[in-house]
Amino acid sequence: MTIDTLIANTIRADVRAIGGYHVADASGFIKLDSMENPYELPEPLRGELAERLANAVLNRYPVPTYATLKEKLCATQGIPAGYDLSLGNGSDELISIVAVATARQGERAVVLAPVPAFVMYARSAQFAGMDFIGVPLKADFTLDLPAMLAAIKEHQPKLVFIAYPNNPTGNLYDADDINAIIEALGDTGIAVVDEAYEPFARTSFMERLPQHRNLVVMRTLSKLGLAGIRLGYMSAHPQLLAQFEKVRPPYNVNILTQVAAEFALDHIDVLNEQAAAINAERTNMVAALGQLKGVEVFPSAANFLLLRVLDADKVVAAMVAEKVLIKNLSKMHPLLANCIRVTVSTPQENAVFLNILTASV
Ligand SMILES: *Cc1c(COP(=O)(O)O)cnc(C)c1O
Repeated sequence: MTIDTLIANTIRADVRAIGGYHVADASGFIKLDSMENPYELPEPLRGELAERLANAVLNRYPVPTYATLKEKLCATQGIPAGYDLSLGNGSDELISIVAVATARQGERAVVLAPVPAFVMYARSAQFAGMDFIGVPLKADFTLDLPAMLAAIKEHQPKLVFIAYPNNPTGNLYDADDINAIIEALGDTGIAVVDEAYEPFARTSFMERLPQHRNLVVMRTLSKLGLAGIRLGYMSAHPQLLAQFEKVRPPYNVNILTQVAAEFALDHIDVLNEQAAAINAERTNMVAALGQLKGVEVFPSAANFLLLRVLDADKVVAAMVAEKVLIKNLSKMHPLLANCIRVTVSTPQENAVFLNILTASV
C-alpha cells in the first residue's frame, strides 16, 4: 500500500484536484500584496499589551460566550441595539461557518457571488459541498443587477456573498443594488455583506440589519491592523445568528486573540488614525498614478488599489526583482486582464512602488 493509494482511496477527488492556498515567501520583501496595515501598535501600548498577555489565563479554555470582547465590539463598531455577534478565527472561518450551516446533504445547494470576488467564497462553498455560481461584474466592476437577479431566480441560492467594498476590485457597489439583491432573496436565501474594508470605506450595512431578516454583516480586524491575531465577527437577526452559533467550534477564538483584541478596542482611536493616514495616502497615490501613461487606476474605497497596466507580468517581475510583492490578478478572471493589486502602505513604501512602476510601464 503506497501513500498515493491511501490518498486516492480516502481524500475527496475535488480536494485532490486543487492546489493549496498560495502565500508568497515574504522575507526581505516590501509586502504590498495582502492589504495589511503597515503600522504597528506604538509604544507604550505595546508594553501595556505585553503585560495583559502575560496575565492571560493560558491553562483554561476561553469562556465561549466571549461576552466582554463582544461588548467592546458592539460599543465601538456600530452594532444595532439588540443585535449580538458571532466571532471567528478571522472572517475566513465565518465564511466557512455560514456555508456549512446552509449546505445540504445529497441535495444541490448554491452559493452565489458577483465575480471577480474574494476567493474564499468559492473555496468555502466547495468544501461545504455546495455549488458556487459566479455572476460576472460589468467591465467597470459595477454590479450587473439584472444578471444577479436572473441568477438568483434561476439558482435559488442559499447564500449570496457581497464584499462591500469588493476585493480585488476595491470599489463599493451601489447600495440600492445590494438592497434589491437582499430583497430578491427574501426568505429563501441569506445575503452576506462582507465589510472587511469598512475601516477605510466608512460606510456600512450594519445599521440596516433591523430592516432585513436575511442579512448577515461580516467584518474583521485584519485590515484595520490586527491581521496577526485572526479575529472576525458577524451580526444578524438573533435567531439566525443562533443557528450559525451551533456550527461554530466552541473555543474557536483563543485567549491571546481575545486579550489582544479587547486591548486594541480600548485603544481603537489609534487604529482609526492609522486607517485615516492610509486613506490619505490612497488619495496621494491615485493622484501620482494619474500622471503615469499606460496605467489605469480604478476607484477604491479600500486600503488597496487595482491598476491596469500594459503588461502585468513585466511589472510584477520588475517588482519582484526590486524585492516588492504585489498581486498579479491577470489570470484570476478575464475581466482582470493585465490588472495588478497593490496595498496602500506608508509614504516610503508607496514611493518605492511608484518608482519601480514608473520605470517598468
Ligand atoms: C481579507 C478579507 C477577508 C478575510 O479576513 P480575515 O478576517 O483575515 O480572515 C474576508 N473578506 C474579504 C473581502 C477580504 O478581503
